[in-house]
Amino acid sequence: MRGNSGRVVEGIAEESGGKMVLLVADGLGGLPHPETGLTEGEAADTPNLDALVTAGVNGLHIPIERGVTPGSGPAHIALFGYDPVRYEIGRGVLEALGIDFDLRDGDVAVRMNFATVDGEGRITDRRAGRIPTEKCVELAEKLNEIKLPGLELFVRPVKEHRAVLVFRGPGLVGGLNDTDPQETGVPPVPLRAEDKGQEKTVEALNAFLGAAREILKDEPRANALTMRGIASLSKPPSFPTRFKAGAAAIASYPMYRGVARLVGMDVPAQAKDTDELVGLLSDNFDAYDFLFVHFKKTDSTGEDGDYEAKVAATEEFDRLVGRVVAMEPDVLVVTGDHSTPSALASHSWHPVPITIRAGSARVDAVRRFGESHMLSGGLGIIKATDILPLMLAHAGRLAKFGA
Ligand code: ZN
Repeated sequence: MRGNSGRVVEGIAEESGGKMVLLVADGLGGLPHPETGLTEGEAADTPNLDALVTAGVNGLHIPIERGVTPGSGPAHIALFGYDPVRYEIGRGVLEALGIDFDLRDGDVAVRMNFATVDGEGRITDRRAGRIPTEKCVELAEKLNEIKLPGLELFVRPVKEHRAVLVFRGPGLVGGLNDTDPQETGVPPVPLRAEDKGQEKTVEALNAFLGAAREILKDEPRANALTMRGIASLSKPPSFPTRFKAGAAAIASYPMYRGVARLVGMDVPAQAKDTDELVGLLSDNFDAYDFLFVHFKKTDSTGEDGDYEAKVAATEEFDRLVGRVVAMEPDVLVVTGDHSTPSALASHSWHPVPITIRAGSARVDAVRRFGESHMLSGGLGIIKATDILPLMLAHAGRLAKFGA
């Protein structure tokens, strides 16, 4: 099943039309409880979602491809109408977006771990004993002072032993090997240039590592660094330009704000809780054609493997749905970015419930929210990249293709 590449849609998108809201419950999809046979969403008491699916057209979506478990980054890229394989976001880039770092096109971002090495340079602790975050902040500030000719570099703390390194300058590339050997008793893996194009980046990173070694050499625990997910940022074409719709992201977590910013959405102030999410949506409702709203708890409770907590999070999400419905967007899509079944305590590849409410929706017979109910809906199973084109179509924002 081929998803929408967006090319046709780009060519026929029009500037006027209805208001669209994409409401995403992270990790929404689940798996049946072994005793009741009900998923978290089916077990939850969801009057607002039930009313919404009754008035809409329903189905399930596949975030990336069948069988592929996505991270939240690519899953959101797909929801925003971008091919998540073509516009792959590397781990270093995601990590930098996750701390609200203002990445520029061509920047190379690296996830770094502080580690402990012995006198022979062999790793004895890959996480430097999980140094406190304050220590990470202190060391990142020192490393941030390193200067390399012709390049800008930024070191930022993340949490505990984790930090981010960003290189800015001409001719830098991503896609280098990780230096974290994923085991102890061996030294970090040297950086290798697979081709001529990578040599400059390898030299720069090695120069940084050499300077860092000097700075860290007397640290009792964090006396070494490893690198992972070395990735360069190539910005996707902007959402407002591609789809001719002004767009804003209302989200609490930096990573989602970062991914939205990456595709050119405006990102108003950070929301601390559901009330603030609703407040921000309401404040920005008139100013934008497309509003993306992100709810996190359905994913974190699934990741915790806590079925009951995910049921409760789904009920909390249902109350948010009621408040968004009351704002009466012309097109409302409620879905998840991927499944996070509490039975697996992790993201999964399972298709995700989706409902579209719009004046032009071909309303189906589904009356209850939940995976098994919505599977019989009028949308069937679609790819995530088809969702945005459908929203534009229902908003009356797509002209006819051809005469
Ligand atoms: Zn997610």
